[in-house]
Amino acid sequence: MARFDRQEVPNQSPPFAGVDLFAIDRALQEAVSANGAGGEAAALGAFGRRWGSAGMFEQARLANEYPPRLKTFDAQGRRSDTVEFHPAYDAFMAESIAAGLHASTWQADASRAAAPAEVARAARFYMVAQVENGHMCPVTMTRASVAALAREPGLVRTLMPKLISRRYDPVLRPWREKTGITLGMGMTEKQGGTDVRTNTTRAEPDGDAFRITGHKWFMSAPMSDAFLMLAQAPGGLTCFFLPRFAPDGRVNALHFQRLKDKLGNRSNASSEVELDDAHALRVGEEGAGIRTILPMVQLTRLDCAISSAGMMRAAVSRAMHHCLYRHVFGRPLADQPMMRAVLADMALEVEGAVASVMRLCRSFDQAAASPAEAARARLLTPAIKYAVCKAAPALVYEAMECLGGNGYVEDGAMARLYREAPVNAIWEGSGNVMGLDVLRALSRDGEAARAVIAELANEAKGLPGVMDAVDFIAETLAGEADARAGVECLYRLAATAALADRTTGDVAALFARTWLAGGHRGATYGTAGLDEAGTSLLLGRILPDS
Ligand SMILES: Cc1cc2nc3c(=O)[nH]c(=O)nc-3n(C[C@H](O)[C@H](O)[C@H](O)COP(=O)(O)OP(=O)(O)OC[C@H]3O[C@@H](n4cnc5c(N)ncnc54)[C@H](O)[C@@H]3O)c2cc1C
Repeated sequence: MARFDRQEVPNQSPPFAGVDLFAIDRALQEAVSANGAGGEAAALGAFGRRWGSAGMFEQARLANEYPPRLKTFDAQGRRSDTVEFHPAYDAFMAESIAAGLHASTWQADASRAAAPAEVARAARFYMVAQVENGHMCPVTMTRASVAALAREPGLVRTLMPKLISRRYDPVLRPWREKTGITLGMGMTEKQGGTDVRTNTTRAEPDGDAFRITGHKWFMSAPMSDAFLMLAQAPGGLTCFFLPRFAPDGRVNALHFQRLKDKLGNRSNASSEVELDDAHALRVGEEGAGIRTILPMVQLTRLDCAISSAGMMRAAVSRAMHHCLYRHVFGRPLADQPMMRAVLADMALEVEGAVASVMRLCRSFDQAAASPAEAARARLLTPAIKYAVCKAAPALVYEAMECLGGNGYVEDGAMARLYREAPVNAIWEGSGNVMGLDVLRALSRDGEAARAVIAELANEAKGLPGVMDAVDFIAETLAGEADARAGVECLYRLAATAALADRTTGDVAALFARTWLAGGHRGATYGTAGLDEAGTSLLLGRILPDS
């Protein structure tokens, strides 16, 4: 008999796999039904079981362990400009596209799909974010691109059948010959990412088309079939549709210089690219580049918030799972008062993120028919993007610590999640840029923005700290220097209102007490001062039935 049995490992948690990501997520279920997508529950359950399987978690590890490689030249020295992916990455692309995450919010004529398309997609997107994040970048860009392409009815009409196809087609060939296509975006240049007015890439008219020459400093998903790109045309900064193949059938003149060596998001390829007389078509009016891309950027920002909420959920559910099994000093960690305070505080943060993000998706669903919902989407998208994406790294870090040393090693998913967590705050408008965007919404249409804030206060009426929050928002959003404080408070108010919208009013009260009226909480999770009833309620909701 072996004296030392390595198969028998006492006091370690079992793998977190083989779970139904929808069934174990009470906050998600409530948010889905509160925002009009309750009819999707069965389909979301099937989706949650598929994405929570051990096989999917393993594929996610592989897609990130073996990141994409740039193949600049072929064996004979001809430029090839292709990117080689691990099959796991392609498998994720195929899954997400088959589920419609790249297009289900659009109809074939490029108009918005009927409600609750946005909420139903967001629920899936949020579950995917708990498994593999890198491939979500091209999925997001593809779905958002339609909002900009809609400015060119002729072009978008020809693209839509390929864009809404549920078949992933990774083969490099002209988009017209493919069963399905994906799109990327090239805005950021070396001298400026936020301030794209400084773009130096030039666009020269060439008949009905343009020739683009210059560079892009960050261009993710370079294997996409086409890109929306900003360049300086004679009439000013303009948006262009730049396909991988020129009309003569030759590969278009995009030369990938290298792939970024990134902190996280490693399964996704992000390139530096040079353009040398590349063929492109204008999208929107010449000189109206920023105006043309704004509706698209609004959608990518929404996806950043959904995805960060998903990452936070992944972190807190894994932390709770571990603490239920791991005994220290003879008791499960989940029963130890200080750990309970940490877990409950994190759970409350995730409750607010999920509720606010899903409520925001309802605004997108209803914006076309309701000016009030359109105003809500306009004001709250940057505020929620700001706060949820900023909360994710700190929360993932704390959740990682709940797993002790196991959280810090690459064998588990927490280390990857930790490296992934900051990216959503950095791209698609970094933190301060979101603050500026909230200020812009207030200055462009102050009346509509103030009506949104009043409506939030009304929805959260009677909860602690609500009226003080309204005053604080008005005070701090008067100028740039204090805007971060105001934007965060606006987010907390929006989250409280979204939680109050649901049947579980207790969570809304806990959130308001902790984040709107809680003057004494510290900077770390576990300092909210939740009472035992609140703590038990929140813990019981993380992994119900465990
Ligand atoms: C992994 C990854 C993938 C990416 N993929 C793409 C892609 O596919 N396509 C693409 O076009 N770009 C892409 N980007 C680029 C990204 O969008 C930019 O990095 C981002 O917009 C910030 O631009 P920047 O890096 O030039 O920073 P800067 O614009 O120099 O900003 C630096 C900092 O200054 C702050 N700041 C800016 N203006 C102000 C102000 N007025 N007041 C106060 N603070 C301010 C910003 O918030 C930021 O924190 C990617 C980036 C990453 C990390």
